[in-house]
Amino acid sequence: MSRTGVDRIPDTHTDGLPLQSAHAPRRARAAVVRQPRTALMLEDIEVAAPRDDEVRVRMVATGICHTDVVCRDGFPVPLPIVLGHEGAGVVESVGDAVQNLAPGDHVVLSFNSCGTCSNCASREPAYCHQFLGLNFGGVRLDDGTSPLSQEGKPINGNFFGQSSFASLAVVRAKNVVRVDRALPLELLGPLGCGIQTGAGAVMNALKLRTGRSIAIFGAGAVGLSAVMAARALDAGAIIVVEPNAQRRALASELGATTTLDPREGTDTLAAIKAAGTAGVDYALDTTGITAVANVAAEALLPNGVLGLLGIPPPDAQMPMNIMSLFARGIGVKFIIEGDSDPQVFIPQLIALYQAGKLPLERLIKTFPFEQINEAMAATEDGSVIKPVVLFQ
Ligand SMILES: [Zn+2]
Ligand SMILES: [Zn+2]
Repeated sequence: MSRTGVDRIPDTHTDGLPLQSAHAPRRARAAVVRQPRTALMLEDIEVAAPRDDEVRVRMVATGICHTDVVCRDGFPVPLPIVLGHEGAGVVESVGDAVQNLAPGDHVVLSFNSCGTCSNCASREPAYCHQFLGLNFGGVRLDDGTSPLSQEGKPINGNFFGQSSFASLAVVRAKNVVRVDRALPLELLGPLGCGIQTGAGAVMNALKLRTGRSIAIFGAGAVGLSAVMAARALDAGAIIVVEPNAQRRALASELGATTTLDPREGTDTLAAIKAAGTAGVDYALDTTGITAVANVAAEALLPNGVLGLLGIPPPDAQMPMNIMSLFARGIGVKFIIEGDSDPQVFIPQLIALYQAGKLPLERLIKTFPFEQINEAMAATEDGSVIKPVVLFQ
């Protein structure tokens, strides 16, 4: 690829600056966390040129995930930081060693992984030995630098390898997935975390078998993605336990065969057993509530598998009766990022979307980037299942 061609990529940003070299730092608009539990600040920052194994991506849309809220509110990430980890956009420039991506490519961003540890080598990057540092450390792990700065002072970036709450993101090429240019980028960002977490839990981690039954606890973006995946795999009973009536209704439209309101004073465990031939083959907790996880475990038939992906309180203990689990041969699996290898799984999810089996638009409501704090609030209060901010 000629540099001349790279340099002709039009500047479509609204930063008001003249066209600059694609291999120079660029101005970008970013939402910065300055203090925990306070609104994100919309600020101008500098975004460095990509290094050899990186690309710089002009963001089109970024989904908001509960983890963004958790990190804004004090999960240990260094401040100031630009969050955001469900980005989708267009490659603006590429590092010199990048061979599989070019400016103009449409891409979905996903989480970071080292690529060399034993789990990465066996294509299980969600269990990368360096997952926490690479995705929450705020810097490139090899030299402690961030690609983001403001008036010469570094701003932490690299959140999930991307920090996509900014109009430009520097991302390692290995966590960028190229997609067909005909696809709507404003819908695809959440494939990089929330959607692949829920769908991947069912398809990759639990490996749900056709005709088998599943109970899904919580019908947010992750739980509803699990519902759609279970339906796509032709599950038998798909039972959804969710207190919000609107979400129960949507779960039914997306494939749930039974929905239950756990607040009605009914015996949720008995209701699941009644709906699922005395129990279910799989149970998936997306809530992180320990009492819910216990109900999920007790709802399982012999040889059933419990998947856990909700974030519990830091001091939570496993609430289960071990003899009860033992007597049924229950498997328990904690699931990160849906056991996904994004390079493999995101194309599979896009194929499901194109087949009409993953109607992402049913979950998403868009906000202008300038309203990112309203979008964060909509995640917190549950009024929107998957807010997505648009950069143009
Ligand atoms: Zn690794
Ligand atoms: Zn996430």
